Formats: sequence, structure tokens, C-alpha cells
Amino acid sequence: MQEGIKALAPRRRGGHPVLLAALYLFMALLPLLLAYLEGLPPRSFTDELSSALALAAFSMLLMEFVLSGRFNAISGRIGMDVTMRFHQVIARSLTVFILVHPFLYTTPLRTPLPWDVTGQLTLGLDTWSLVTGILAWVLLASFVMAAIFRDKLPYSYETWRITHGIGAAVIAALGAHHAIEAGRYSGHPYLAGLWLAMLGVALLTLLYVYVIGPLRQSRRPYRVVSVERVALKTWDLAIEPVGHAAVPFEAGQFFWLTLDRSAFAITEHPFSASSCPDDRPRIAFTIKESGDFTRRIGTIPAGARAYLDGPHGNMTLAGRTGDGIVFIAGGVGLAPIISMLRQLRAAPDGRPLKLLYGNRVAEQILYGDELDRMQEDLALEIHHVLREPSADWAGATGQFDEALLRRLLRFDGYERWLYVVCGPAPMIDAVEEALRKLGVPLRQILSEKFSYG
Ligand SMILES: Cc1cc2nc3c(=O)[nH]c(=O)nc-3n(C[C@H](O)[C@H](O)[C@H](O)COP(=O)(O)OP(=O)(O)OC[C@H]3O[C@@H](n4cnc5c(N)ncnc54)[C@H](O)[C@@H]3O)c2cc1C
Repeated sequence: MQEGIKALAPRRRGGHPVLLAALYLFMALLPLLLAYLEGLPPRSFTDELSSALALAAFSMLLMEFVLSGRFNAISGRIGMDVTMRFHQVIARSLTVFILVHPFLYTTPLRTPLPWDVTGQLTLGLDTWSLVTGILAWVLLASFVMAAIFRDKLPYSYETWRITHGIGAAVIAALGAHHAIEAGRYSGHPYLAGLWLAMLGVALLTLLYVYVIGPLRQSRRPYRVVSVERVALKTWDLAIEPVGHAAVPFEAGQFFWLTLDRSAFAITEHPFSASSCPDDRPRIAFTIKESGDFTRRIGTIPAGARAYLDGPHGNMTLAGRTGDGIVFIAGGVGLAPIISMLRQLRAAPDGRPLKLLYGNRVAEQILYGDELDRMQEDLALEIHHVLREPSADWAGATGQFDEALLRRLLRFDGYERWLYVVCGPAPMIDAVEEALRKLGVPLRQILSEKFSYG
């Protein structure tokens, strides 16, 4: 009965998670292996620990560039939100390693003594390697704090993003100088070669994100064909390709969208396609006003140029098993889900479907009439849930928590269904936690968070 979904041909471009994890671990530990192979006489435990932390942390720092480079080979299977979360957690861990490592040395800091050829008795820091080390240390600490408290800073997301890219490149270059010039092990040609190669890849990643990617996008422009208000503070924006076929995507995926600017502008924002892939060349997005960029959507004129980076994301139905599918959407989190429902209507799957759709007030409900009509064409049951209902509201009320989901999922074998969850990060965390408590295995839950905070 799953022919429709299978016909959507899963083409998982990303590497297998186990392989990626093994490769990551290998690269993080490779500098330690190379250092060990240098065969230098051992120092005190804390000195060796300090070097080990610095070596692993610097390798992890250089890999952060690749992790945030939006490569489908990395995030295609595990998802962009998981990749970004990993990037953030690793950034915090490597920062701790780098911040503590200077304090673990017991070896005195002075110019190497002439007879100390192995550098075992002194920390061979010359003035420049000391300066680059201290600068990288201070910058890294402030840089990671700025990323953690980004939402509290008086800068736009775009300003933060550009400073994040430039700052990371400066820290990596300072770190490479410090490691190669001051490091007991990193001065060896093999390890120095590894650092320079990894630094080169890191800088190439920036070049790819800020120059090569936009260049490719600029050769495949789109234009806005309509902008329409579809609910309270929410707009439907449709684009069509100019002079090329629209990029293929799967229902549930998202793009970084640049609107009314050059492809090189850094004002791109992630949005899920809400149209059905079969509607190409037209691609539509459902966009809720939330800040500077999204508040301008209603003023974008038809004909304005647009560029797409993508598709990205792994919240897609192709190849996913489950006796039925429960979609759980919060607000504009319906966007990728309506795309899936539209696709299922075009290529029916035969499985029973349920949509649990939460909003604050009824005026925020998106595509109400279309959803009602879908119940006639599909084996679809819809439950609207409102947080602040009017007096005449007859549907469910409250937030998606264990108690509410227990009430709405009162049917046999619900734990064997597939769950597709989309909306704000706190809602997704709450739903995933509730589903786990209800006995739904993690592998049956697909989700996409609408923020990487
Ligand atoms: C995978 C994904 C899919 C999304 N799909 C949709 C959708 O279909 N419909 C919809 O209305 N919203 C969607 N969003 C949310 C949307 O991207 C943000 O609401 C929008 O970028 C806010 O921009 P702003 O300038 O208006 O608001 P701001 O107030 O400037 O930003 C609010 C927050 O949005 C995030 N944000 C802003 N710009 C970016 C950016 N360039 N890249 C990543 N995050 C950013 C930041 O966390 C920021 O703090 C999605 C987000 C993600 C991550």
C-alpha cells in the first residue's frame, strides 16, 4: 500500500550517521596519533593532557567550518537541525578544552635552553606565537559567548552571521600559527602539514558558502509570481524559475531564500517549501512575520528576483515506514506538512493520516478550507488545538503535552505509526518528550525545528 511514497524515490544524499561519526572521531584524534608517532620523550601527565586537549580541540575547531557549510553529504541524512546542534555542542566543548589547556602546563615558559633539543624542559613560546595564542584564546571565548547569547545582542542576525564567519577564520589562522610555532608536536612537518591542509579546507568552505554557492545561485534565478496573505501575519509567497527548470525537492524540505537582493547578499533565510513538488516549476513558501525580514514579505512586489540555496533537510516521507502517519504542526510549522499532504493527495499512499494542528487563536489556522477538502480525498483526520480559544470553540484546547497527546492518540497501535513534527523548537522538544513517554520509538519520529538557537 506504500507505492505512492516509494514512487517518490528516496535519494538519501547524506553519509551514513555511523560512518560520519567514525570519520569525525578519526579526524579529531588524528593529530594525537601523529603526535604520538613523533616518539618524543613523555612529560608529566598534565603537560601531555594539555597538549592532547589542544590538539583534539584545534582539529574539532577546523571541522566546525565543514559542519556549518550546509553540505548535504553531512546533513542529508541526519538533518540540518541535528548537524547545527552538533556544531554548537562541539563548539562549547572545544572552547573549554582550549581555555583550560594553558593552565595545565607544569613546564616553565621561557626561551628553549640550547641543550633542550626535544623541548621537553621548556615551553618554546616566542613572542609571536605567544601573541597569536593569547589572541586566539581571548577571541574564541568572546566569540562562543556571542554565539550563545546571539538573541540578546543588539545586532541583526545578518551582522552576527558575517562576524561569525570572519571571526572563525581569524581564530583558525591565529590558532594555526600558534600551534605550528609553539606546539611541541605541531612543528613536525606531518602535523604542521595536517593543520595547513585542514585550515585550507576550512577557508575553502567559507569561500564555498559566501562566493561559490551564491555564484551558482545567481545563474539560476527565480522571480516572485505572487504574494498573498493567508492568515494572521502569514503570507504565501510563490516563485518561478527564470530560464531554467526549478530545482527538484521532496515534500518536507527547505531552502535558504534570498529575496529582492543579489544572490551574494547575506540576507538569506530558511523556509520550508509548502507547495507540492509536483507543482514545479512553481515553488511556494508560507511565511510568518517574526522579524525584520519576514515583516517585509507583504511588500515584496511580483517580479522581484529570488534565489534558492537547497533543497536541504531530511524530514521527508520517502522510504519511511509506519502503519499510518501522524502529522503534528505548530503554527507555520504546517508549511512542510501541507507540502507532504499535497503530495500525498497527488500520489496517495493508502496509509491512514492524522493531523494535529496547534495554534494560539483560530485566525492563525492556515489553509483551513483546503484541509477540510483534503479530508474528503484522503484517509485524513484533523484535530485543531487552540491555546487561546474563543468562547464558541468546540475543538481541543491547550498545548501539545503528554496528557493532550494521550487523548488525541487514543487508537490501537499508535506507537507503530510514523510521527512528523514541525514547529518552534520548544514545541518539538515537548512533543518528542511526550511521544517517548507514550512509547513511540525515536526512529518513528521525524522533526524539523524552525530555529537553530
Ligand atoms: C529549517 C527551517 C525552516 C523554516 N521554515 C519556515 C517556514 O516555512 N515558514 C516560516 O515562517 N518560518 C520558517 N522558518 C523560520 C524562519 O527562517 C525565521 O522566522 C526567519 O528567518 C526570521 O527572520 P527575520 O529576519 O524576519 O526575523 P529575526 O527576528 O531577524 O530572526 C528571528 C530568528 O530567526 C532565526 N533566523 C533569522 N535569520 C536566519 C537565517 N538567515 N538563518 C537561520 N536562522 C535565521 C534566528 O534564530 C533569529 O533569532 C524556518 C526556519 C528553519 C531553521
